[in-house]
Amino acid sequence: MKDYNIDTKCVQGGYTPGNGEPRQIPIIQSTTFKYATSEEMGKLFDLEASGYFYTRLQNPTNDMVAAKICELEGGSAAMLTSSGQAANFYAIFNIANCGDHVVASSTIYGGTYNLFHVTMRKMGIDFTFVDPDCTEEELFAAFRPNTKAVFGETIANPALTVLDIEKFAKAAHSHGVPLIVDNTFATPVNCRPFEWGCDIVTHSTTKYMDGHGAGVGGCIVDSGKFDWLANADKFPGLTTPDDSYHGVTYAEKFGLGGAFITKCTAQLMRDFGSIQSPQNAFLLNLGLESLHVRMPRHCENGLAVAKYLKNHPKISFVTYPGLEGDKYYSLAKKYMPSGTCGVVSFGFAGGRTAAETFMKHLKLAAIETHVADARTCCLHPASATHRQMNDSELVAAGITPDLVRMSCGLENSADLIADIEQALEQI
Ligand SMILES: *Cc1c(COP(=O)(O)O)cnc(C)c1O
Repeated sequence: MKDYNIDTKCVQGGYTPGNGEPRQIPIIQSTTFKYATSEEMGKLFDLEASGYFYTRLQNPTNDMVAAKICELEGGSAAMLTSSGQAANFYAIFNIANCGDHVVASSTIYGGTYNLFHVTMRKMGIDFTFVDPDCTEEELFAAFRPNTKAVFGETIANPALTVLDIEKFAKAAHSHGVPLIVDNTFATPVNCRPFEWGCDIVTHSTTKYMDGHGAGVGGCIVDSGKFDWLANADKFPGLTTPDDSYHGVTYAEKFGLGGAFITKCTAQLMRDFGSIQSPQNAFLLNLGLESLHVRMPRHCENGLAVAKYLKNHPKISFVTYPGLEGDKYYSLAKKYMPSGTCGVVSFGFAGGRTAAETFMKHLKLAAIETHVADARTCCLHPASATHRQMNDSELVAAGITPDLVRMSCGLENSADLIADIEQALEQI
């Protein structure tokens, strides 16, 4: 599929049936796989042969869908995980251990921030959070001798900041570590971070890739470009023998293209088992088949809503990276020339009360802690996800008490704007 356009890869990537085989990806609903001899099975355990033995580690349906996402991102290898949280945890934990350190953008998704700042800190991995707009000097100053990776989001959820991928890649590479980018909001249809120097991409496939609010999932894709052996002292897990696999050295045996994902499957999936169910992988693939058709519509609706709100007297601010005049407009144009995403955030001249009144009167846009769905949804963080915070804590978290986040779906934009208009009239 390498030479085809991304639209074609969305539809047909990852799986090419042979004669008489199912046209649609088969759901291999089986926990286990049979072998004629113990010797044959033994080879799988030694990583001497590739094949399936237990769905806690690998399943053929998952691998077909992962192969499609790998093609979309232009990577060398990929794996599905049970959620976006699992994808980000595995991507970091595959190369950073107790005593190590990671540099991350400060405007990342709240769930990822909590995973890093609280849970992974308990595991002895330290994080330094940097303003994504910091200067190169400030970014360089965040590194330590034990830094093992740099992390950011193409478009941050929900801050909607755009990561300067080239700046972050340069800083990572000059310190001998990879850049990991969570590409959930942009999707490979709008941005392919590997083309800008990123080394590993993660996804919450729960969002646009699934696109229908049907299944929680995640994905990790390796570009195959980061040279672990050239920085061998930093990444002993990849460059020295793994005793739990009879002394295999991943970077030597599986090369640049295969080492990261093979280690992540063989060690982390084996030990933690956060695998996506084959049923969910099947549903995810149905979403991927139309990703290239849906993304432009999400962006079109997002831009239409952003433009409408921008000129409304009851609205105090609009944040949308695809809107001319937005702080991130030029970065968005550079990294995502064909569109950003469908998520828009905005505030009200009438403050928190106005936001609450607005939410109460929406008819089409449903109140949900979700984004990137075919159906438009809306959230007032101050009264939902962030309700434990007082007003000054909210401001420190980059969320004002009047902020509303709207994820524009695939409906007609005139209907969405009419819904917004009638809700604004109630204020
Ligand atoms: C939702 C989200 C996640 C977490 O993904 P889950 O599938 O909910 O575990 C991670 N990163 C970003 C950018 C997200 O939007």
